[in-house]
Amino acid sequence: MRLFIPDFAFFEPEALQYPIGREIEQRLRALNVPIRETTSHNRVTGIPGDTPNEKYKNAKNTLVVGLRKTLTFDTSKPSADYAIPISTGCMGHCHYCYLQTTLGAKPYIRVYVNMDQILDAARGYIRERAPEVTTFEAACTSDPVGIEHLTGNLARVVEFAGQEPLARLRFVTKYDGVEPFLHLEHGGHTYFRFSVNADYVIRHFEPGTAPFAERLAAASKVYQAGYKLGLIVAPLIRFEGWEDGYAQLFERLAQHLPRDSDLRFELIQHRFTATAKRIILERYPKTKLEMDETKRKYKWGRYGRGKWVYQDDEATTLRRHLEGLIHTHFPLATIEYFT
Ligand code: SF4
Repeated sequence: MRLFIPDFAFFEPEALQYPIGREIEQRLRALNVPIRETTSHNRVTGIPGDTPNEKYKNAKNTLVVGLRKTLTFDTSKPSADYAIPISTGCMGHCHYCYLQTTLGAKPYIRVYVNMDQILDAARGYIRERAPEVTTFEAACTSDPVGIEHLTGNLARVVEFAGQEPLARLRFVTKYDGVEPFLHLEHGGHTYFRFSVNADYVIRHFEPGTAPFAERLAAASKVYQAGYKLGLIVAPLIRFEGWEDGYAQLFERLAQHLPRDSDLRFELIQHRFTATAKRIILERYPKTKLEMDETKRKYKWGRYGRGKWVYQDDEATTLRRHLEGLIHTHFPLATIEYFT
């Protein structure tokens, strides 16, 4: 396990008035991370770099610690009711990552110290929806597991959800730092998902994330700790030899996770937008990610904005192959969706 250490950190001065802010500061100082002040986590200036790409890379290694002022949560349909805002940004360099478009000029990693207020707001949403269950998603804008050793914030949300009868929590990760979660009172309310993929995809398109074997070992520990476990196989890519590549992925999964486990799978084919393609080619000009519109089908989305997905026949063979592998190796698993 290689835990992320930022190259730089910025603190809003007010963040140090909170115990969580001071804890984070102490951890960073112990790791010799240079710390500077910023007036706002929304406008961080002074991240070094001579070119936009250098600045981008440095931003991804920069931790910004501040207060979450907006305590209105975004909705996160259809998989959850609300996105719980504990962090944004990620140190990973997945070529296809949608944060490249959604985070725009703020690719740095932001974490918040006013967790009491954030959890109070979550409590408000739970009360509003009672007696319905309220599900929170913690990984809409970041990979919170990858930075947990610096903040401890996701564990706070796991314990909070564990204590609230009507709360459920879900998140996804490509990191393996799961030790902080193994002994928490999660009450079976947290759905812990790992993003996995064929070796080819991880090697070529997911620099800066945990290797597959480590993710798998982490998934196994989480499952043994009684969490509901899900695997997101995404993005599904039809690289040369994809059928064998995905078959090997499932053989390896089956070696580490019990055949009769009640896993849940989410299957997402690779898609891209015109904006994403432009940004990806700027940031990762040598990427092998296939983004040829002439080979794809345009799928219209909401608000007149669409994405390029695989042609119907290609998507169907992809889906059938993956479903077959899941049924063979994990007959009791649930496939939540293929999209
Ligand atoms: Fe994006 Fe997840 Fe990769 Fe981080 S690990 S860069 S959030 S896809």
